[in-house]
Amino acid sequence: MTGVPLCDLQAQYRPLQSEIERAVCRVLASGQAILGPEVAALEKEVASYCGAAYGVGCGSGTDAISLALHALGIGAGDEVIIPPFTFFATAGCVVRTGATPVFADICPDTFNIDPEQIERKITPRTKAIMPVHLYGQCADMKPIWEIAAKHGLPVIEDAAQAFGAEYQGKKAGSLGAIACYSFYPTKNLGTYGDAGLSVTSDPEWTERMQVYRLHGMKPKYHHQVVGWMGRIDAIHAAILRVKLPHVDGWLQKRRNAASRYDRLISDAGLDGWITRPVEAKDCFHTYNQYVVRVGEGHRDALVKHFQAEKIGYEIYYPMPLHLQQCLKHLGYGHGDFPVSEAATRCVLALPMFPEITLEQQTRVVESISAFRSQATPMRRAA
Ligand SMILES: *Cc1c(COP(=O)(O)O)cnc(C)c1O
Repeated sequence: MTGVPLCDLQAQYRPLQSEIERAVCRVLASGQAILGPEVAALEKEVASYCGAAYGVGCGSGTDAISLALHALGIGAGDEVIIPPFTFFATAGCVVRTGATPVFADICPDTFNIDPEQIERKITPRTKAIMPVHLYGQCADMKPIWEIAAKHGLPVIEDAAQAFGAEYQGKKAGSLGAIACYSFYPTKNLGTYGDAGLSVTSDPEWTERMQVYRLHGMKPKYHHQVVGWMGRIDAIHAAILRVKLPHVDGWLQKRRNAASRYDRLISDAGLDGWITRPVEAKDCFHTYNQYVVRVGEGHRDALVKHFQAEKIGYEIYYPMPLHLQQCLKHLGYGHGDFPVSEAATRCVLALPMFPEITLEQQTRVVESISAFRSQATPMRRAA
């Protein structure tokens, strides 16, 4: 019985190995390991890829979000509206500025923040709205832009999972005031370690982010604000520059793989039993993850089956942020965000990477079918 990995990074590395090694050696030989020409070139290339004017490379996607919040002057007493169904960084960065994350529930079909829930959360203390483009698909930006414009609020894109995603033909990264990317290895564009980047078209915010990523230092040894050491390593910039020209091809392969899953699931008669991901209107989904919904109460049994069958999977995310121990002081409880809470009980990410083969995907879907035929009758997927 052959297993299928959730993600296979080696499959992407192998064809680029010599080019990546040359890029790394170029940095080592140059003696310029911190910032320098590789970082400047990556910042320019990523900004131009996504239709923004400037990029600021940093240590991680988490740093990118922190830089954006600091550049916008967000701190104690301020509120930032975010979804509760996302990776912890979205909320953690807000808390660490001293501001308060205010949650707005998600849409049940796309798992992205629900614009209707945003508006009722706006108070005089609201300083920004930060939608997350979850699983590689942009949030429903048009109504978010309208709400933001009406209340004079900047929009920060948490685009960590959505490099290359589009909304109304425009790339994630050009859909708000500042957008934040992660180059964590398994993201759409990933390096071999931690790195991130923020993009914006505002020169003033760019300069502030450059200052915050260097301990608020400007000029040298004079600190206007308290920043931190949040630079991107030149080695990662060089690796990412090798990979960037390939990213569109990889996204197309992810989309092809998603279509194959759609067809295999449908042909196996599994529709209604599991719910396939929804590609929303105006969205170019990049399938950083292919996440299905499994009939409530049965996801965890399927997970055990996958473990036995060596099928890779992940649950993004098993607990919503409003119920996390460290955010207890915000005073939320069970039932406050029912759509997010329901999502945590039924989502399941299937193996997904650009190089996944039809055989591997067939194996995954056959495994689900086998589980279904031996399982007790189930309620239909939500
Ligand atoms: C990965 C991720 C981040 C953080 O990126 P790191 O590079 O791991 O710091 C932030 N938000 C979301 C939604 C993510 O998926």
